[in-house]
Amino acid sequence: MHTLTADTPDLAAYDVILVNSSGGKDSQAMLDVVCTLAQRAGVLDRVTVLHCALGHVEWPGTSELARTQAEHYGVRYEERHREQGLLLDQVCRRGKWPSASARYCTSDQKRGPARKIITQLVAELGDLDRPARVLNCMGLRAEESRARLRKSPLSRDEAASSGRRIVDTWLPIHDWTEDQVWQRIRQSGVPYHPAYDQGMTRLSCSLCVLASRADLIRAAQLRPDLAAEYATLETEIGHRFRNDMSMSDIITAAAASSAVSLEGAEHAAVVELGQGQLWWPRFERHTDRYGTIFLCTGPDSEDYVTFESAPVGSRGRLVAVVLETRPSVHCGDLTRGLAPTTPAVGEEITLGSGTVFTEPDPDTGLPTAVGLVPDDGRDEDWLDPRALYRCHNQTVRLELRAA
Ligand code: SF4
Repeated sequence: MHTLTADTPDLAAYDVILVNSSGGKDSQAMLDVVCTLAQRAGVLDRVTVLHCALGHVEWPGTSELARTQAEHYGVRYEERHREQGLLLDQVCRRGKWPSASARYCTSDQKRGPARKIITQLVAELGDLDRPARVLNCMGLRAEESRARLRKSPLSRDEAASSGRRIVDTWLPIHDWTEDQVWQRIRQSGVPYHPAYDQGMTRLSCSLCVLASRADLIRAAQLRPDLAAEYATLETEIGHRFRNDMSMSDIITAAAASSAVSLEGAEHAAVVELGQGQLWWPRFERHTDRYGTIFLCTGPDSEDYVTFESAPVGSRGRLVAVVLETRPSVHCGDLTRGLAPTTPAVGEEITLGSGTVFTEPDPDTGLPTAVGLVPDDGRDEDWLDPRALYRCHNQTVRLELRAA
């Protein structure tokens, strides 16, 4: 539930409500807030979601996801891209990568197309005998940076306003924490991008000039071809991706961190544990431990994968690779607002990291449940409940990978 504050605008006072969506978590939570309030005000039909597509430099599936999210709320979806060329064309032409102080990527790839669609949406209104009122919504949060902290949650955009339109910018989740964002997404039950389950903290460009070092290294591991393309361009233009880190530094760090974790693993880099429909014992939810799962292979009570060969005592990351999907009938974890969501075939979902253990079936004594004990000694959420509810009842290949 969004708390109305002095900075919450009256949505019914606007002719156009534009939601800028990158497809990422903040956009997603913001979309839920805006659509909930617009529905309540009876103006849901005035909402348009705009996704400024960045081409192959953004995470695969982002445009499709942004569309799916808009369709979930029954609102109009529009996709635009910079007609004069995408990001790497710009970098090539300018001979420089964007940076925090020269962030031409955002102004050209996102703000420019947003201005154009505002013009289009206002034109569609016809003659109103007054300037059209436009609410331009963005998912910026204060805790992301000092520059964002200084922004007002509701402000007049004089540069975008004209005699034909008055444009206000609204940041509906400006004061939210990351936890609040995820809570809202879980409550909504709307799918989010799988890159988050693969260790990324932000979306948009996979290799963003403003990303954290950890995100860049992880992205280079997940998208090595793209990282290599960036490194080639870096050499061609003779300008480092970032002052503090070149793309070739990032690729080297990505390879080194894979090598370190592989060296530390006591078993092969990937150990397949079995295939089947993923469930977990009821007590895991009741106790909040969420520590073990099992894989069903058929309708009978004995149709379970047994984990007799699992490398008990080894450390690693438990990953479910989705092979086949179906809706889950699980009621979810109501106290936490967690509900099952249906993943995509091929999605790789990290369930957790820690030390492998198995537990026996009470009737047969066979080890049909497998789990990980986390390193930090916590009692709850040994595996990630959000990831578990993404896999529930899905046919997966369960793998132990080097952490
Ligand atoms: S995600 Fe990063 S690199 Fe991509 S457009 Fe935004 S600021 Fe620029």
